[in-house]
Amino acid sequence: MGQATRTTKLPLDLSNRTQGGANTGKRAYLEATVWVLDAARAFYVAFFLAHAEKVTEQVPYFSEPHQQMRQRQISADKLLTWAEFQTVVTSQHPHPLPEWNFSQAFPDFPFVYRRSVIKDAIGKVKSYLSNRSNWQQSGKKKGKPGVPGSHNHPTLYEGTFSLELSGTDLQQSFVRLKVYTGEQWIWANYPVKYSHYFEHRRQDRAWEQQSPRLILRPKSAELHFSQTKEIKANKVVKSLQNPDLVTVAVDLNVKNLAVITVRQHGKIIESVFIKDQGLDQHRYRHLKHASKKQWLSGKPVKGERNCAHLWQHLRRMNRDAAHKAACAITRVCARYPGCVLIFERLRTIKAKGGSKSRRLNRKQANQLRGQINQIAREKAYAHSVVTVEVNPWGTSQHCSRCGAKGERFSSRAGRRERERGGKLFRCSVCGYEAQADHNASANLHHSFYRELCWQKKPKSTKHRGPSP
Ligand SMILES: [Zn+2]
Repeated sequence: MGQATRTTKLPLDLSNRTQGGANTGKRAYLEATVWVLDAARAFYVAFFLAHAEKVTEQVPYFSEPHQQMRQRQISADKLLTWAEFQTVVTSQHPHPLPEWNFSQAFPDFPFVYRRSVIKDAIGKVKSYLSNRSNWQQSGKKKGKPGVPGSHNHPTLYEGTFSLELSGTDLQQSFVRLKVYTGEQWIWANYPVKYSHYFEHRRQDRAWEQQSPRLILRPKSAELHFSQTKEIKANKVVKSLQNPDLVTVAVDLNVKNLAVITVRQHGKIIESVFIKDQGLDQHRYRHLKHASKKQWLSGKPVKGERNCAHLWQHLRRMNRDAAHKAACAITRVCARYPGCVLIFERLRTIKAKGGSKSRRLNRKQANQLRGQINQIAREKAYAHSVVTVEVNPWGTSQHCSRCGAKGERFSSRAGRRERERGGKLFRCSVCGYEAQADHNASANLHHSFYRELCWQKKPKSTKHRGPSP
């Protein structure tokens, strides 16, 4: 049993009010809300850091399986109650710690928001303290964990938001949010860009709804609704006993972003090529331009990011391409229920040789491969498809039909030229010829089943589910 997660975004409409959006004042409320929640979170991060001994306190508890009293770290709920007792004014408890009086520092702070920032602060401080103690035990000089920051996207629990969605008129939908005006807390309505897509995902009974988060960016605001689903999937060892098992192998490359081959009963029954649609070229042109500019302007300024917009553009393009490729991979998997998805274990290939822009572009391409792998793994898992990473040893040099070592070549103007990294593959033993990436993808199945020359070679084939 495992859990799959997915997020659906609901953008708020912050455009001009006459065009149906919220006015600028309301946008300022959102900023003030995020700001005051960050300030409150900073208060509690500082509070817990000042009481680190309480955060790591060991408390006795009765362990059912062992039938004895044991020790464990204090729970987050207990810490929350304790922190409220120390910092919040109530009728039974009118005098909290004078230097940690939250009620005085943040008057009228809604208690739902207060609890959410306390929980955030507990998480941040706990992980900081445990990282720090691990670091101290390791005895290393470098890598000292930094003190936790206070920023987080606000989580909207019950009582701080409500959705008013009109089933008939998508234009008449809005969300009511408890926001801070800078002086007081009020309820405000924000129009949302509600869609059938959002409604369809929200109504899906198979997924359990979680509290949304408010993501406020310089030019946009969105509510991110995450949903979770319990997944039952066969262990790979068990799947292997099935003689009708379908395996879906994905070879990730640069120009052919992904080459998907589907195999059953020892035969490739489907192949799908996902092209990069000129992404590699596009990225390269940008990077060339950027490195030229850097060269002209002298050394890069330390601490200052050059061409920030360009990098943002590149990141977005990569992210977009990764999602599209991962969707295509998942669509193939969904056609074969109970299949196993095979990726090669990605190595960190150091980009070397060529110009600086070329090296940078290789690095970007490697990151894209990592993203496709990660997103596809998560999406496939929601369809109960388990992902396996296999040893990529020899998959691009050996023949997928007989396993002999072959050669790569390219065909230029009707002439064959042998070259490393050529687009085509030829086996000199059995004469098999194929597109090189397709051959590599077909070999991944062999590596998974340990056939042909992969019988003993791969020592460390790792079987893994989706990353947590
Ligand atoms: Zn061959």
